[in-house]
Amino acid sequence: MQVFREKQPLIQAIQKIKSDEKSLGLVPTMGALHEGHLSLLKTALKETDQVVVSIFVNPTQFDNAEDLEKYPRNLEKDLELLKKISEDIWIFSPNAHELYGDKVLSQNFDFEGLELVMEGAFRNGHFNGVGTVVKHLFEIITPDKAFFGEKDYQQLQIIRKLTEKTGLPVEIVGCPILRENSGLARSSRNERLSTQSREKAAFIYETLQDVNRLFGIESADYITTWVENKFKGNPYLKLEYFEIADSETLKKINTKEKGKQYRAFVAAYADDIRLIDNIALDNSF
Ligand code: AMP
Repeated sequence: MQVFREKQPLIQAIQKIKSDEKSLGLVPTMGALHEGHLSLLKTALKETDQVVVSIFVNPTQFDNAEDLEKYPRNLEKDLELLKKISEDIWIFSPNAHELYGDKVLSQNFDFEGLELVMEGAFRNGHFNGVGTVVKHLFEIITPDKAFFGEKDYQQLQIIRKLTEKTGLPVEIVGCPILRENSGLARSSRNERLSTQSREKAAFIYETLQDVNRLFGIESADYITTWVENKFKGNPYLKLEYFEIADSETLKKINTKEKGKQYRAFVAAYADDIRLIDNIALDNSF
């Protein structure tokens, strides 16, 4: 396993991969790795010849200084986990200067409205930060395929839009959400939950499953009010938003149409930890 802290030696190593006509996969992460990240890596190892895992806590995508400061970082532990999956992967773990140069700033993107809803509405500048860092990574690493989790479904759609708009020749592969036994979506942030909150947070996915059952018989408006009331009755979780949206455009739906794909999205706080989750809705009604 090779760890690159600087981009130049990595670029040279990649040139060799390209000249040998091997395919290159990228799994971008912010570290504090868990089974969710590792599932992306396993898919990348199956689908490409050489995999790069980037580990970088990207400052420009945080709108909250405390959240950035408290974001868990443990490179040694991450490397141990990665080594258990494969000795052949390359790790890119740069500092902010190496990735951004002198100015650690976001570019402004137009993601055609995808950036304005849900996470974009509640986290100021978040998707400009995500777009900027992913664009830098794509330009440095030039992957054939890049692997992103459906856990951050809105981000996945935004990255698809980013590649469409920039014309960067990379295939975006979406990977399913990995969950703890309780159903809670795996997240680096779960480490910061108390034992009690971690148990209570299973409520989020239980609710999403109920939503999926209700979706065949009730309207989106009815279900939204039902979810809001359900959260009001739960003293351990504070709902930030719940939305049922078109899976492609992420636009909130008014009426269901046959043949279209929909998803339900939640952001909620347990203690002061912000958790997000989503579910694909069964549209065979
Ligand atoms: P992060 O380190 O949180 O930025 O996540 C890096 C990548 O891992 C993103 O593409 C996430 O969507 C993905 N990811 C995070 N948690 C999960 C999960 N529970 N299941 C699948 N993918 C995940």
